[in-house]
Amino acid sequence: MSTASTIPNLVLPKTQKVALVATAGATVEIKDHPITDPEDLAPGECLLKMLCTGVCHTDLHAALGDWPVKPITPLIGGHEGVGEIIAIGKNTTNSPVQLGQRVGVKWIANSCYNCEQCRKGYEQNCHNVKLSGYTIDGTFSHYLVSYVHSVTPIPDGISSEAAASILCAGLTVYRALKYSETTPGDWVVIPGAGGGLGHLAVQYAKYMGRRVIAIDGGEEKHKLVMELGADYWIDFTKSKDIVGDIKKATGGYGAHAAVVTTASSSGYTQAIDYLRENGRLMAVGLPADAKLDASIFFTVFKSITIHGSYVGNRQDAFEAIAIAASGAVKCRYVTKKLSDIAQVYDDMGKGKIAGRIVLSMD
Ligand SMILES: [Zn+2]
Ligand SMILES: [Zn+2]
Repeated sequence: MSTASTIPNLVLPKTQKVALVATAGATVEIKDHPITDPEDLAPGECLLKMLCTGVCHTDLHAALGDWPVKPITPLIGGHEGVGEIIAIGKNTTNSPVQLGQRVGVKWIANSCYNCEQCRKGYEQNCHNVKLSGYTIDGTFSHYLVSYVHSVTPIPDGISSEAAASILCAGLTVYRALKYSETTPGDWVVIPGAGGGLGHLAVQYAKYMGRRVIAIDGGEEKHKLVMELGADYWIDFTKSKDIVGDIKKATGGYGAHAAVVTTASSSGYTQAIDYLRENGRLMAVGLPADAKLDASIFFTVFKSITIHGSYVGNRQDAFEAIAIAASGAVKCRYVTKKLSDIAQVYDDMGKGKIAGRIVLSMD
C-alpha cells in the first residue's frame, strides 16, 4: 500500500485545539495546532480522533518540569486518552488494530520491542521509549499520532470516559498488585485508599481476592473504601499508632504487601515496619525529590522486598482494561472539557481534586 489508509470520506479540519505549555512552569493555554496529514504518518503510526482524556498528577509534573527527567517544550500533555483510529500510515503491516476501532493511549506511547528490556517484557523500561505528553505530544489534543502496535484496544463493555483513567491510574496499581507476590487471602495495605489511585487499587485487590487494609482520612473516604470492599479501615487523622493498628488487624504479623502511591517519604518508611517477614513494598508514587529512608537492618532481617513498579506493559494494560470492562472495577471521575484544563491544574496543585478528572473533546 503506497498511501495511508483512512476511514471513508475522512475530511480533516485545517487546525485543531490543543492544551499547550510553552515552557516549563508556564500556564497551560488552549492553542491552535496543526494536524498531521495521514500521508505523513510513518509505517506503524496511526492518527486518532480523540474522544476524551484523563488528567493525571504526572501531567502537572510535566507542565512544571520539576522531575529529574525533563519533558519536551512546547509540551502537549496527557497520557490516558481514548480515541478512534481514523488513519493508518502507509506500508503498515500486521496491524493488530483496525480503522474505526476505539483504542487507548497510555504513558508508554511506544517501545522499540527489540531492546533487552522490551525482550524481557519490560516495555516501560525500553531504552527507546516514547512517553505520551512528556517526550512526544500527548492526549490533550483533538487529533493525535500514535502507534498501532502500542495502543490498547478498548472493548465495547466500557465507556471511553470510564476507560481513560484505567490506562494510567488503573494500570499502575493493577501491575503493582500483580507483582506483589501475594496470594488470595493475603493482606494488602493501601495508603491513600480513597484517592484517585487508591480507590482503584482497593477494587483491583478485592477482584484478586486480597484482603485490604485501607488507610485514609475522614468519614467520606471511610464510607467510599468500605463500599468498594475494604476489609479494614484506618483513619490516619485519628490513629495514634498505624503500625500497631495494622499488626492488630493481621493477627499480630503485619501485612503481606503495601501499594504505596503517596508522594511523602514517610508512607514508604512506615511500610517497612508494618510489613510481615518476606513482605513486599510496592513503590508506585513518583514524587519529584523525596528519598526512601528505610531501615536497612529491618529490610534485611525481615527479608523485605522494595519493588519499584512503574506503570505497566501492553499486557498489563490489556488485563487492567478487561477487568474494568467486566464491571469489577469502576473509576470515580468527574467529566470536564479540554478548555477547563487550566482550572484543573490549579485545583490539582492545591490538592483540591478528590477522584479523577476526565476531559471530553466536544
Ligand atoms: Zn498518569
Ligand atoms: Zn525497547
